[in-house]
Amino acid sequence: MWTLDKHRYDKLPYPTVVVVGGGFAGLEFIQRLAGKPYKVLLLDKQNHHCFQPLLYQVATASLGADSIGHPFRRTVGPMPNAAFRMAEVLRVVPERKRVETNVGDFAYDILVLALGSTTNFFGNRQMAEVAMQLKSISQALDIRSDFLQEFERALVLKEESDLKRCLNFVIVGAGPTGVELAGALAEIRRTVLRNEYREMASELMRIVLIDSNERVLKSFSEKSSANAERYLKQLHVELMLNKRVMSGDEDHITLDDGSALDTNTVIWAAGVKGVTLPGLETGLHERAGRYIVDRFSAIHGFNDVYALGDIALMEEPAYPRGHPQVATVAIQQGRHLAHNLLRALEKKALVPFSYRDKGSMAVIGRRKAVVDMGRWSFGGTVAWLMWMLVHVAQLVGFRNRAVVLFNWGWKYLSWRNTIRLIVRPYVRKGTAVARPFVAQE
Ligand SMILES: Cc1cc2nc3c(=O)[nH]c(=O)nc-3n(C[C@H](O)[C@H](O)[C@H](O)COP(=O)(O)OP(=O)(O)OC[C@H]3O[C@@H](n4cnc5c(N)ncnc54)[C@H](O)[C@@H]3O)c2cc1C
Repeated sequence: MWTLDKHRYDKLPYPTVVVVGGGFAGLEFIQRLAGKPYKVLLLDKQNHHCFQPLLYQVATASLGADSIGHPFRRTVGPMPNAAFRMAEVLRVVPERKRVETNVGDFAYDILVLALGSTTNFFGNRQMAEVAMQLKSISQALDIRSDFLQEFERALVLKEESDLKRCLNFVIVGAGPTGVELAGALAEIRRTVLRNEYREMASELMRIVLIDSNERVLKSFSEKSSANAERYLKQLHVELMLNKRVMSGDEDHITLDDGSALDTNTVIWAAGVKGVTLPGLETGLHERAGRYIVDRFSAIHGFNDVYALGDIALMEEPAYPRGHPQVATVAIQQGRHLAHNLLRALEKKALVPFSYRDKGSMAVIGRRKAVVDMGRWSFGGTVAWLMWMLVHVAQLVGFRNRAVVLFNWGWKYLSWRNTIRLIVRPYVRKGTAVARPFVAQE
């Protein structure tokens, strides 16, 4: 007789593991439990996994949004012991072993939180109001529309000061995201603006990268920082180091030395903080915005609630202040917890987590990248090729890998960022109409 999968799933006689968040940690965890004697329920407010390391390429029109996203149902659908609900989790009620969401409550035997992180404005409310962010596909599409709209708008403006403000792009934070964005925008100025907006001098476009540290890529080796700085300067990105952004509004920002910069576009890439939920306050490290977990990923004070990835603050001798908030930590923690839950079923002793650092890399432009691997630091073409291989290999789904490789190949040969469509105009807060149509008389 024909039966619905839903019924089969509901009748499974296994403990229910509710996983909140299908990012790097959550998805890896779930995949490791495929076909195992646990009933897994994935809850995510989105219907897709997002490959955040390539968001900046969507924002700068090198890749389409669909090539870095992967629908959860493609992963969960074929798994007989898993289900997915698109739901935003609002609260955890540990005493009743339930999570409350915008579509109803769900009961759990084991709860795994892998909620990731959000932009940290370090209490600067003004900047939180005006700056753009890069944490999701929709925010990446906003940035893409914004810079394209500013280009179009600049062509119809009469006042030079207005025009310059339009073409002045400020990025706050010279970590990997800021550096990668700045490099990609600089390449757009060199190719797209110069060749296709010929009525306008491409030199009018400024890309300013601001950081309160004394060097770019502070978490990398000094050699990689120096290489990255050299590449950025070759691409005419203006660096403002040892400077802090204090305030800003729709058309300018001010810095801690009292100077001001006129700009319509500020992108904030200066920090992240964990996404936490009401209900588990005893396990929360408030200042870090992360849950304190032991080496088995259990949240302090709870033996059936675990935290993985960006939201987990786990101390190891080599990481006394917790692991870096990067994808490799999230993936390794997801895999490790699944492994331990399977060991628990067999009544085997649990294994404590140890992070294996595989290195860091950032790309600045065509044949310009930096890699730190153990004691080795190198840059240039080899680093660039390595960066591409590692990122393609980590993408979820064969189609995505093929599309990304094709797009990169095409871009390399044609020198063009092809995906430059304003399909969803970006409307700033407090602006009634999208900017390109507000031409000056
Ligand atoms: C622009 C950018 C570039 C990056 N580049 C790199 C890089 O090059 N290399 C690297 O290693 N790392 C990089 N990172 C960091 C890396 O992406 C994160 O460390 C990693 O995504 C963390 O994985 P996670 O599973 O903890 O969370 P995430 O991957 O962020 O997943 C969290 C999931 O939780 C869901 N969620 C959140 N709140 C709720 C809720 N209330 N209810 C339901 N679902 C919810 C979200 O929708 C999301 O799917 C980058 C990050 C960004 C933003």
